Amino acid sequence: MTAGDLANCCIVGGHRPPLQRESQTSCTLVQSLSQRDRAALCYSHTMKLGVSEYFDCAHFLPGHPKCGRLHGHTYKVEITIEGQVKSGMVVDFADLKEALRGVLAHYDHRSWNDFLEYPSVENVCELLSAKLKDRLLFPFTLRVWEGHGKWAETERAGSNE
Ligand SMILES: [Zn+2]
Repeated sequence: MTAGDLANCCIVGGHRPPLQRESQTSCTLVQSLSQRDRAALCYSHTMKLGVSEYFDCAHFLPGHPKCGRLHGHTYKVEITIEGQVKSGMVVDFADLKEALRGVLAHYDHRSWNDFLEYPSVENVCELLSAKLKDRLLFPFTLRVWEGHGKWAETERAGSNE
């Protein structure tokens, strides 16, 4: 990992911890609430949290009768993480967006064929999830939409597992 990568990354172990204050559970922050409401906010389970982004890329699929011609797509990427709620958050949306944007910025307005031999949406999804794994402590699901109505999805364990 380069210094530039470190500057861009936000949810990586060893760089900056996720927004979790171990000494302060969500329960300690809700003492102004009624006993009943407070009990309801003492999380004993994990919660899912997600963000989405868009970016544009060109590609062609070598040998494919239709997709073998150079063309482009607007890709939508949805990431869903899962973790414990600490201090009222699993993680700050801004940090999750920054992690996702940090990966996508490398590919936006480029050709997938510069990075992948056969840039199907499956291979794009695999590549992006491998890059995101280095930036996320949490287990996550990544769904990549190639235009409208077509997507691939993969699940990954977090980098601390
Ligand atoms: Zn295509």
